[in-house]
Amino acid sequence: MTTQFAYTHNIIDCLDTGVFVVDKHFTVQLWNKFMEVHSNFTESKIIGKNFFECFSELPKKWFERKIHSVFMLNHESYTSWEQRPYLLQFSHGRSVTGQLDFMYQNCNFAPICDQNNEVQYVCVTIKDMTDIAISTMQLKEACAELERVSSIDGLTHLYNRSHWEKAFTNEVERIERYGGEVSLIIFDMDYFKKINDQNGHLFGDQVLREVAQRCKEVLRSADVIGRYGGEEFVIFLPETNVQEAALVAEKLRKKIAEFPVSYEGVTLPVSISAGFTASNTDNHDFEKLLHQADIALYQAKQAGRNQCIGYTD
Ligand code: GH3
Ligand code: MG
Ligand code: MG
Repeated sequence: MTTQFAYTHNIIDCLDTGVFVVDKHFTVQLWNKFMEVHSNFTESKIIGKNFFECFSELPKKWFERKIHSVFMLNHESYTSWEQRPYLLQFSHGRSVTGQLDFMYQNCNFAPICDQNNEVQYVCVTIKDMTDIAISTMQLKEACAELERVSSIDGLTHLYNRSHWEKAFTNEVERIERYGGEVSLIIFDMDYFKKINDQNGHLFGDQVLREVAQRCKEVLRSADVIGRYGGEEFVIFLPETNVQEAALVAEKLRKKIAEFPVSYEGVTLPVSISAGFTASNTDNHDFEKLLHQADIALYQAKQAGRNQCIGYTD
């Protein structure tokens, strides 16, 4: 340790923060106890050495820029673990940390000036942020899981109504602003009450699960399907015109009617009726599109079920 820092020696060694000082040439001038404990360097081994030679894993260019800017601007600089998890690869010493590899760190870079207010050194402090990083990450994961669970229908694992409506509203608003088109399909199970009544609610539930799975197999990743009500499903198809929507609806109908559903020894054919519509210049409206598809669905039911009908004025 050089004499100009001797007075502060005891104090900085008591800190639970890493403190070190470098000059313009990145020669280490000061190295506190925290740095000794967490690195492979004792104070006597590192003072007078080039910082980069001691830590080859350092993000050299980034660190150089940081230090140079403090020298140039005579101004403090800061980096948080959220921008850059760590400066030096210190072990974090926690037993359970999930994916955390090293101690997460907040770093501060402060100028140390002479009597003429010229920057002579930069003092770097390193704060151990591992515990906060772990809790923040766990909280983020929990929030993401909560959001996922709150948007999913428990029985079919499709989006639930409120999430689907939000997604569809966004899509319709996007079209209003930037142009493009969207198609909408609504379908409803045929004679589902009878299926339930004759085979029990559990069989009905299995039909709904199976139908959801068959839909997933037919739809593209951009298409968004949701369970709208009991045995009613909705799908919006971004950048899809009404002719393409007709093909998709028919594909879904066929896929569902193709094989019967079997559950606990009972095998039963199932079918759907579907109505579809597509956006055009005067129906960029969430409610209007749903209403149109619903009218077409009603017509499909009236026409004998197990069929798809497109909305016409
Ligand atoms: P249609 O062909 O005209 O659509 O006749 P339907 O019998 O399917 O129509 P209806 O609306 O009369 O019956 C729907 C039935 O769906 C009634 C309800 O008990 C049943 N249902 C709604 N949600 C669920 C569910 O989560 N599980 C089961 N098993 N049945 C459900
Ligand atoms: Mg219904
Ligand atoms: Mg029905």
